[in-house]
Amino acid sequence: MTYDICFSIAGSDPSGGAGIQADLKTFSALGCYGAAAITALTVQNTQGVQSSIPVEAQFVKEQIKAVMEDLRPKAIKIGMVANTENILAIRDGLSYNFRYYPQEAYPFIILDPILVSSSGHLLLEKNSIEALITELMPICNLITPNLPELQALTNETILDNGAYKLIERTGCPNILVKGGHRSKDPIDVLFSPTQKYIYKGERIKTHNTHGTGCTLSSAIAAYIAQGSDLPHAIAHAKQYVTTALRTGQDVTTGHGKGPMNHFFNPKKLIIEEN
Ligand code: PLP
Repeated sequence: MTYDICFSIAGSDPSGGAGIQADLKTFSALGCYGAAAITALTVQNTQGVQSSIPVEAQFVKEQIKAVMEDLRPKAIKIGMVANTENILAIRDGLSYNFRYYPQEAYPFIILDPILVSSSGHLLLEKNSIEALITELMPICNLITPNLPELQALTNETILDNGAYKLIERTGCPNILVKGGHRSKDPIDVLFSPTQKYIYKGERIKTHNTHGTGCTLSSAIAAYIAQGSDLPHAIAHAKQYVTTALRTGQDVTTGHGKGPMNHFFNPKKLIIEEN
């Protein structure tokens, strides 16, 4: 018997709302076993990110190798990567172990291309965007930029042009463009090899939006690990995020943008028959 294992490779948020802390909460709340390798430490709270330091690249690679040669994650979520050295370390740490994986056991890899925090702190060095595109995106199954990130990655202002350009440049087959930055109700679009899927969302009135992006990509990973196909995993993950926002809407945690309510309906850890 096994658990459905999800693995987050991301930065730490000591205030618990974003980064690996949010990822592990999401995996756990959705019934998966969560593992995490830390790429960077940040100093932050609900009022914003004050500073960050990358974890040394060799150490990042060793963390990933240690997890991958021992556990068998079904889905991997990559969040904040900090710099080019860590991008290469993640690529190498993952590909080293893939040599020993049978094709059917390859995990599904989701990359949330985190560039800046909502408070304006750079979470990826500016000159590392190219390495993110050429070295990490080609081994991913899904990339989840928001509109400003898609624009920064492709220099395209038109949604479809940006998404298709990223697919062409990276070979990553699926791009989910998140429209949460629109002033109206958010619309997300999945560009997949067969078709385009439109997800209409509901805007929840709340200040507690810290870590929403981290949580969405982790929730997609959790549903994929449990056997959903991608379009359904995204639909379920969006529903989870919306409800976590709604049920944490009026809660005060800290003095700024508070966290979501990850545990509005926690699931028991799922055990699968082998
Ligand atoms: N800190 C870390 C470690 C993150 O991974 C993220 C994710 O985007 C953030 C901060 C930014 O969170 P937010 O923009 O929701 O404040």
